[in-house]
Amino acid sequence: MAAPAWAGGGPEGAVLDRMSLKGKSAFVTGGSRGIGKALAIGLAQAGANVTIASRTTLQEGQALATELKQYGVDAFAILADVTNRSALDAAVSETVNRWGKLDIMVPNAGIGIDVNAEDMTEEQWDRLMDVNLKGVFFACQAAAKVMIPQNKGNIIITSSLSAHVVNGDPQACYNTSKAGVNMLMKCLAYEWARFNIRVNAISPGFIYSEMLDPYLAAFPEKAHGYMVAPSVQNRVGTPDELAGAAVYLASDASSYTTGQAIVVDGGYSLTPGNYRLR
Ligand code: NAP
Repeated sequence: MAAPAWAGGGPEGAVLDRMSLKGKSAFVTGGSRGIGKALAIGLAQAGANVTIASRTTLQEGQALATELKQYGVDAFAILADVTNRSALDAAVSETVNRWGKLDIMVPNAGIGIDVNAEDMTEEQWDRLMDVNLKGVFFACQAAAKVMIPQNKGNIIITSSLSAHVVNGDPQACYNTSKAGVNMLMKCLAYEWARFNIRVNAISPGFIYSEMLDPYLAAFPEKAHGYMVAPSVQNRVGTPDELAGAAVYLASDASSYTTGQAIVVDGGYSLTPGNYRLR
């Protein structure tokens, strides 16, 4: 029996060929270090040209761009504060000027502020939400301005396990921002499906990066108690352990996946935490 028309339309070819990002054009916010850097490396290894955007760390971004070229792709670094809409639009325009299109947007930049809810100031709340929620929205909008006329695009947001569970830290604002990111991701996946744009998220558990350094340095035992002890793998993750999920979501291998947050947490969320905040 022949399949009806509405049962087709997916990509063809072997699955590893569909995982290739060869010739695609990608943009990573917060790409200069940590998780964003690892995602940029993964995308480049899979064949994509990559724009590395960051707020202040242009030199680190430039060094990374040089590193990425060893994979046979093009790359460049640019400063773009995600809270500044016109700076983001300009950086995306540079990407399109260089490679003629934008296939993959990775809104990854984010900050954490570790403070008890009762002590959090309005300035701290606004600063975090501006980067983690509004900045993600601005990056998605900047991408959509190019992707909607292209009638094709793919957005992969770095969310967090903290969107799904309270992570053991006093981080009400951070966790709320990430829960907001996940709902934003679903809304955009719904709204922009008509433009052939897929929107997904990766929700990492604790990943060793500069973001974790201050907590590990200040409270090594406490940090171990809530970051490592509840993990069934008895460790935190490394940034490059997220790259496979990003390449999968960015590629045609995930053509029927949209509006989803993939949790990559080493099994952290499988067990009830044995650490309790006092
Ligand atoms: P990180 O090492 O602190 O790196 C943060 C990156 O974001 C840097 O490139 C930084 O650029 C950039 N950034 C910060 N504010 C920005 C702004 N206003 N505009 C543009 N770029 C800005 O952090 P990370 O651990 O890699 O975190 C990356 C993402 O993963 C964040 O969204 C974070 O919430 C999420 N996440 C992290 C973990 C974890 O355990 N590390 C777990 C779950 C989710 P500059 O250096 O130039 O400021």
